[in-house]
Amino acid sequence: MICQDINKNKKNKNFAYFVTLTVVPVFAIIVMFSYAFLHIRDSVKFTSHEITGLRVIAQIQRTVFDIQKLRGLVCMGNGDEKSIEHIKIIKESIYKDLAMLKEHSMFIENDTSLKNELLNFIDSLGKTSPLEHTNYYYLTDVIHDFMRFSGRLSYHCKLILDSTMNSYVLIDNIVFLLPELIEYNGQIRAVTLSAQNSGLVDNQREYIKAQENKIKEKLEKLNYNLSLYYENRNSDEIKDAHNGALKAQDAIIEFANNKFLNGENLFEIYSITTKNIESIIDLYNENLKNLSHILEKRLNRDKEISIFIILAGFCSILFIIFINAMFYRRNRKFISKIEELTITDAMTTLHNRRYFDLVFDNLLKAQKRARQTLAFIIVDIDHFKQYNDTYGHQAGDETLKAVANCLKNSLRREGDFAFRLGGEEFGVLCTGLDDSQAFDFADAIRKKVEEEKIEHKKSTAGKYVTISMGLIVIKPGLVNSVNDVYRYADEALYKAKEKGRNRVVVYNEMH
Ligand code: GH3
Ligand code: MG
Ligand code: MG
Repeated sequence: MICQDINKNKKNKNFAYFVTLTVVPVFAIIVMFSYAFLHIRDSVKFTSHEITGLRVIAQIQRTVFDIQKLRGLVCMGNGDEKSIEHIKIIKESIYKDLAMLKEHSMFIENDTSLKNELLNFIDSLGKTSPLEHTNYYYLTDVIHDFMRFSGRLSYHCKLILDSTMNSYVLIDNIVFLLPELIEYNGQIRAVTLSAQNSGLVDNQREYIKAQENKIKEKLEKLNYNLSLYYENRNSDEIKDAHNGALKAQDAIIEFANNKFLNGENLFEIYSITTKNIESIIDLYNENLKNLSHILEKRLNRDKEISIFIILAGFCSILFIIFINAMFYRRNRKFISKIEELTITDAMTTLHNRRYFDLVFDNLLKAQKRARQTLAFIIVDIDHFKQYNDTYGHQAGDETLKAVANCLKNSLRREGDFAFRLGGEEFGVLCTGLDDSQAFDFADAIRKKVEEEKIEHKKSTAGKYVTISMGLIVIKPGLVNSVNDVYRYADEALYKAKEKGRNRVVVYNEMH
């Protein structure tokens, strides 16, 4: 019990070290990995936001393409059945575009005012049925409004702030340059078509020239953007589409300079501008594809990193707990081994004097509380000096071990202890025995040693090795000093020696 208490104390301390060594690094890892995880989660959110924005912008552009087609057809002003049918198909397509755009816009986050504005704008187009009373100026305004929304969305979704130059170039092309190029071409087409019957008037001619200059300017910017892009990435699809668009644009400029502005072949302009617009749309789609690819890749990489962070954090925590638990167990075993060694007599493997002092004191205190008797016996081998002299020191050691075994084997209960107190002197502590039981117990040990029949020719106490014992049975609450008890028992032992050895003398009987 007492020794368990002492060990428990040490184990608790050891356990506290284990907890500290585990909890502190585990906590640090949780903080570190949570921080990294939150950072990556932000990045995932950022990219998802960009992807949503790009989707809405692409849908706006698809709608704009259709409105531009409608504007071209409306400006042609042909009332024939084929044109009417064509216009009807395009209008249906625009309504579908608008429905789809509304659906995509629902996912715009953070800025509800931009989202609401866009949704209201889409609704207003549907409600007033503008497509029934279309004219060039109205449709051009709608297109410009949509282009403004694209620009605002690109800022709102941080698309324009992207850190890599590649994405920046593609975004600039998708959101600004290509839609503007298409629009200028569309405007030239519409104006020309509206004048096909009457011929171009001067201000129309000037307008077209102005748009042509704008186209040249945008083309320069486009070429510069794409040359930056080619430096970092090689995309044959973009290159092909780029070349196609340049060729088509050259064709329209050449045509306009040579024939069209001189008032000839106005009708031919429709197929040339349409072809041109289609090649720019091709280029637009390639840009869009590349940018979506870049963003999706980044999103997937960030998601992979998040999973990696969670797994790495989890594994590190498991590793720390495992290593610490292993060391804790080893340490505990090591400590109990050392503890055992410090309280054991090496030769006899009985408890040593150090442990006796500790246990004796504790048992005396516990005995008062428990109201139990405590028997203490001092054991001393008779004429041991002579034994050594006769049989040698080595034989003396063997005899000490034999006597120690007799003591150990006589113990019956868990609360009984046997000690080597020093030299050829031993001690036994035993709880819960009354006087006669204690005497019988001591005498049984004495007999046991005698029955070992270890020859001792020179002993005056018998033919064999014998022991003398001083016994004291302490009643609860009567004696409380360790020294007193020890002294009384020693006195009794002395008496036993005096009376001729090989006997038990009880301290009480001495009075
Ligand atoms: P008594 O009957 O009065 O006790 O006589 P004794 O000879 O046993 O008493 P004494 O105290 O004079 O002698 C004790 C002897 O015990 C002396 C010493 O040589 C021997 N002894 C003490 N420790 C050891 C030990 O570890 N090994 C051996 N072999 N002998 C020891
Ligand atoms: Mg002695
Ligand atoms: Mg002796």
